[in-house]
Amino acid sequence: MVKTRVRFAPSPTGHLHIGNARTALFNYLFAKKTGGTFILRIEDTDRERSKKEFEDEIVNDLRWLGLDWEEGPDKGGPFTPYRQSERQDIYDHMISQLMADGKAYRCFCTEDELEKARLQQVANHEPPRYNGKCRNMVPLISRSYEVQGKPHTIRFRVEVGVVEVEDLVKGMVTFDCDKIGDFVIRRSDGTAAFMFANIVDDALMRVTHVIRGDDHLSNTPRQILISEALRFIPPQFAHLPLIMGADRAPLSKRHGDVSLKSFREKGYLNEAVINYLAHLGLSYGEGKDILSIDELIEGFALEKVSGSPAVFDMDRLNWINSHYIRNCEPKKLRGLLLLHLVKAGVNLAGKSVEWIEDAIDAVKGEASTLSELVEHLKVFIDEVKPDDEALAILKESGAFEVIKAFREEFEKERPITAERYKSVSERVKARLSVKGKALFMPLRVALTGRTKGPEMEKVLALLGRDEVLKRLI
Ligand code: GLU
Repeated sequence: MVKTRVRFAPSPTGHLHIGNARTALFNYLFAKKTGGTFILRIEDTDRERSKKEFEDEIVNDLRWLGLDWEEGPDKGGPFTPYRQSERQDIYDHMISQLMADGKAYRCFCTEDELEKARLQQVANHEPPRYNGKCRNMVPLISRSYEVQGKPHTIRFRVEVGVVEVEDLVKGMVTFDCDKIGDFVIRRSDGTAAFMFANIVDDALMRVTHVIRGDDHLSNTPRQILISEALRFIPPQFAHLPLIMGADRAPLSKRHGDVSLKSFREKGYLNEAVINYLAHLGLSYGEGKDILSIDELIEGFALEKVSGSPAVFDMDRLNWINSHYIRNCEPKKLRGLLLLHLVKAGVNLAGKSVEWIEDAIDAVKGEASTLSELVEHLKVFIDEVKPDDEALAILKESGAFEVIKAFREEFEKERPITAERYKSVSERVKARLSVKGKALFMPLRVALTGRTKGPEMEKVLALLGRDEVLKRLI
């Protein structure tokens, strides 16, 4: 059996978004499941739009997700280099071979000419494709134009026929070559077109399975034609369904910031994001909502990937994230929270590590992101700032009497323990003849500025006697 080899091939032209991250994850899971190799290849042939900052950020995001690769620009491997901008001579060589075989030709059409021809086709209700003007140019003329330095692209010659692709997710897809038209494989600046470099590298890097977003499905017939012309064995293809927003439109900036960076910054845990992404378009079975990475690998199969679009559901991601936060050790959470605390300007001076971890432990059940967790922690660190619901409680009649009575009773206790709190509340209850919400809400609101939060015993323990008395004024 041939060992499986898959690759994640991002173009560093922007942030890694949820869709790309899901593609990377599925490649990773497939590689691990089949005992294969996961490759990272940077597709930076578009010189204008590719940026090293984006490449670095993508690499960081993948590392943060924990999707480690065996071969890549930083790791090397048997098919180095793994950055396309360093492979131009390989593409040039392949293009010369196609030219020599008569399978590609120079095209001297200008942008204007192409645009005019395209508009004409649209007016005639024909599929827009290259009209073939330079296809049969006499080689000598073509060569002399080149020698004169006339700007040109190189096009692949598409012959009549059909291309059939047995896609591992979509099933059999058939493309009519007549609709494709001769396409550009080398741009006028001399760089290889994305689609060309992509399939050449897949072949040379011995990629066995191309798992990618289905926005690339329409490139596949072109890539199969290139493969055949270069006598490569094409990889197997698996096109993952699109991810859509709740409004059923393809997920994009319109749905808010869907970059992985923004999720990281908001405080989603990598395990939660992995778990969430793994379920986008694939079902692991009834009740298998939260799975470890090993279980995800075990349960992964391309045959299980649904052909229909997956819907990005923020509530579900929040639910998964809150699960991971709730089940995370306070010590680990403290480490993860550090950056978020600094960013939020929270001053932890004078707080011991134990205190911080106790506080995290007390509030972790209430947050669905780390930045929310910071907000909950601030309640015990910053001055009390009552929210709207808390203000409404404070405005209720009798609330201040309750707070005052609690203060007077707490003053008699030193220290304030959980048992003493029981007796204090009994006394306030007897003194004012109030009970339930009317008794406990004013106290909670005065101490935390919130109507919800950890048990009162934990609130008291975290604040300590002095701070409790200070807040009950
Ligand atoms: N560079 C392409 C992209 O970022 C990858 C296409 C592929 O995976 O084949 O969309």
